[in-house]
Amino acid sequence: MVQEKGTISINTENIFPIIKKFLYSDNEIFLRELVSNAVDATQKIKRLSTLGHYNQPTGDLKVKVSVDADAKTITISDNGIGMTAEEIKKYINQVAFSGATEFMEKFKEAKDANEIIGRFGLGFYSAFMVADKVEIQTLSYQDAAEPARWICDGSTSFEISEGSKTERGTDIILYVNAESEEFLQESRLGEILNKYAKFLPVPVQFGTKTEREPDGEDEEGKPKYKSVEVDNIINNTNPIWTKAPADLKDEDYLDFYRELYPFSEEPLFWIHLNVDYPFNLTGVLYFPKLKNDFEVQKNKIKLFSRQVFITDEVKDIVPEFLLLLHGVIDSPDIPLNVSRSFLQADSNVKKINSYISRKVADKLSELFKKDRKGYEDKWGDIGIFVKYGALSDEKFYDKAKEFLLLSNTNKENYTLDEYSIKVKDFQTDKEDQLIYLYTNDPERQDSYIQAALKKDYDVLLMNSPIDTHFIHHLEMKLEKTSLKRVDADVIDKLIVKEDAATHQLTEDETTKLKNIFDKAISNPAMKVEIESQHAEGMPVTITMEEWMRRMKDMSKMGGGGGMNFYGAMPDNYKVAINANHKIISKILNAEEGQQTAMAKQAFDLAMLAQGLLKGADLTAFVERSVETI
Ligand code: ADP
Repeated sequence: MVQEKGTISINTENIFPIIKKFLYSDNEIFLRELVSNAVDATQKIKRLSTLGHYNQPTGDLKVKVSVDADAKTITISDNGIGMTAEEIKKYINQVAFSGATEFMEKFKEAKDANEIIGRFGLGFYSAFMVADKVEIQTLSYQDAAEPARWICDGSTSFEISEGSKTERGTDIILYVNAESEEFLQESRLGEILNKYAKFLPVPVQFGTKTEREPDGEDEEGKPKYKSVEVDNIINNTNPIWTKAPADLKDEDYLDFYRELYPFSEEPLFWIHLNVDYPFNLTGVLYFPKLKNDFEVQKNKIKLFSRQVFITDEVKDIVPEFLLLLHGVIDSPDIPLNVSRSFLQADSNVKKINSYISRKVADKLSELFKKDRKGYEDKWGDIGIFVKYGALSDEKFYDKAKEFLLLSNTNKENYTLDEYSIKVKDFQTDKEDQLIYLYTNDPERQDSYIQAALKKDYDVLLMNSPIDTHFIHHLEMKLEKTSLKRVDADVIDKLIVKEDAATHQLTEDETTKLKNIFDKAISNPAMKVEIESQHAEGMPVTITMEEWMRRMKDMSKMGGGGGMNFYGAMPDNYKVAINANHKIISKILNAEEGQQTAMAKQAFDLAMLAQGLLKGADLTAFVERSVETI
């Protein structure tokens, strides 16, 4: 062996132990590497044949994986191009051995097995992660080629000699080491093949299965069957993403979805991706029906490179807001041994990211234009993607403006433009500001909603987890528009149209009334205010200011630093007393002994409407009411 010079003395002795040790955690990928080499070899012979450089029949091209538990070997066979002894020296020996210096320098920086393998073209050597000894038996397609055998025990010495293969192709025989015996179990090997090889373009055979075959007739003339062993092909060589969309029916997409995610509900719709410039990418992305548990639904997109499975961690390739999509992306521009640092640095990846985002927007826009009713039916499921996308991606928002829907408490849906036209007449305040009202809990806020509807206001439904952020986003994006929760103030003050008329009470009466209520409520978090409202309104209304509630909501959701200050504050409410209401003047004019009880009753009713009356207060209220009756 050549001794290379450098700051540390290196020879090939160092390489194998490092590969083995360093790559140990990921060791199942040896199978992916060897099977894809075998697939490459069969595809090469096919190409040579097509180009007329190989004139023998190619036969049924196939890769075969088998285990011999007694001999403790795993064999990966193909009938591809094979190698001559010269080629083994060139491709197998030199690749690893010549890069030793660089390898030793770089391996320290590498973060995972994939990175090492990818950088050094060490795919074949990953065999040594699970094997003490690796043997190659191969016969090249070339005229008059001699079979060759290479064997290496993972140390410095390898041996090339005459081989025993009589047919074109290559067998890679792994003598599995003691720590890796799990891979001698058919079930374990089958599991790995299912993960990486399920959609390889060349049939992969693993084990056998029994099938029923006709076997003549019995005495009564009925057909008979016998069981026969047949080769078990584990992969689908023509998955739908490799086909042209024009050749596919809806049923094909649904079948494929079921193949990928058995037991899942049907997807809402899908997008067929297909680009060849400036990068190469194909795939099918499905919009699933969302369940509440978002985390389990993430990482369902599978990334392939020429039909070889790479990973289902597609964080860097798919925009964050689309991680809940399901399906497949295949790009030969992403190397097999993809590492996170590669993905982050690669400029194609960024382009892929914005391409996917654009395709999704186009698809949604198309659905919206073609079939608005169908789109609205799905809005409950896709709304979250669209809102999240609008929040996180400016370009997406620009497209989404057209098909982003606001839903109101009457279950009607409006685009942003439609909605501003709808509410303009009734919901513009004296500052010429449009006020959108919303509820995040229609059950609890019903009395406020009804009061708003009575005034011909409209109330939006904003009750998904993302809406807190989305409301804020809308205010930033929409001109002269702000949003208020329907219980943010008494109805007359939610949308202030003119300066409120003052009430009829004298200053003395106002002070007296405030004292009566302060005494009845006796809670410092409840701020009593005497207001002039419509006589038909409620006598007492309890509200929390919009800004205060938002701060509290944000801090509940873990919003940053200073927000927690608001979270720690007690819930402060305003208790608005309607000075123009009959009951209020009744309280004011009642005998002193009764005033507190009446005020308390009116306050409790308001608490009840806000859903705030609980525990002992609620019980006392009920008892008091019974007595009154
Ligand atoms: P890479 O596949 O990245 O080139 P490998 O270490 O996996 O690196 O393989 C090195 C080379 O050995 C391949 O490029 C190919 O020329 C040759 N080779 C490996 N496996 C086979 C095979 N089954 N049949 C024919 N040639 C092979």
